[in-house]
Amino acid sequence: MSCVNFDSVTKKYGNKYALNNVSFSLECNRAYSLMGPNGAGKSTILKIISGLVTADSGDISINGNKPGSDEAKRITGYLAEEAHPYINLTVKDNFLYMGSLRQVGDLGNRISFLINLLGLDYYLNSMVSNLSRGTKQRLSLALAIIHNPGIVLLDESFNYIDIPTQEKIIRYFKSMNSTFLISTHVMSIAQNFTENIIMINNGNIIFRGKLSEIESEKSENETMVKKLVS
Ligand code: ADP
Ligand code: MG
Repeated sequence: MSCVNFDSVTKKYGNKYALNNVSFSLECNRAYSLMGPNGAGKSTILKIISGLVTADSGDISINGNKPGSDEAKRITGYLAEEAHPYINLTVKDNFLYMGSLRQVGDLGNRISFLINLLGLDYYLNSMVSNLSRGTKQRLSLALAIIHNPGIVLLDESFNYIDIPTQEKIIRYFKSMNSTFLISTHVMSIAQNFTENIIMINNGNIIFRGKLSEIESEKSENETMVKKLVS
C-alpha cells in the first residue's frame, strides 16, 4: 500500500521547470532517498508534499489527504533545508514549545528520549544561538519528529551531523513505523539510509529502484545516473 502518491506533478518558477511531470509513490513504512545534484528539484518535491509550496498541476495525496490539510500536517514531520530552531530560546524551551504545539502526549518522556538519542543533554539550558551548527541541526531534527510522525520528510537534514550520530538516528528511524523521504546529494548518506532510491535531475525522474540495480541500469539516463553515484 502506498502512503504518499505524487502523480504527474509540474511546478514552474517563471519559465523554468523545477518539476516536469514527476510521478512516484512511497510504500507505507518504507524509507526512500531522494537524490540528485543541486537544483534538481529535491527541495521542491519535499515542499510540495509538506504543503509549503503549491504545484501548478498534478495530484498529491498523503494517506489520502491533500498536502497542507490539517490531517496531512498532523501526520507529517518536515525539516526544511537550513531550518533553525528558535535561536533566542534554550534547547529545553524549544522542546517544550514544539511539544505543546504538536500536542505530544507524555511530553517529558518523549523529550528525554530525543535528548538521549541526539546527545543533547549537555546543552539543555543553552541558548540555541550559542550552539554549533551540528548541534543546532540535531535539535532541528529532534523537533521535526517530536510527534512521532507517520510521514517523515527531511531536506538534507544529515548535513553537519557527525557519522556516529547519523548512524544512531538511522537505527531509530528503522524502528519507527513511518514512511521516510530524505533528500541528499551525498551518496554515502543515501547508501547508509536505505536501498530505495528516487533520483532526479533537471526536474525529471531519472531512476527509481534499488541502489543495487543502478549498476545494471540501462535507461536513456544511464550515464547521468552512474555519474551521480560515482
Ligand atoms: P534541489 O533541492 O534539488 O537543489 P530545488 O528544488 O531547490 O532543487 O530547485 C529546483 C529548481 O527550481 C532550481 O532551478 C531552482 O533554482 C528553482 N527554484 C527553487 N525555488 C525557487 C524559487 N522560490 N524561485 C525561483 N526559482 C526557484
Ligand atoms: Mg534543496
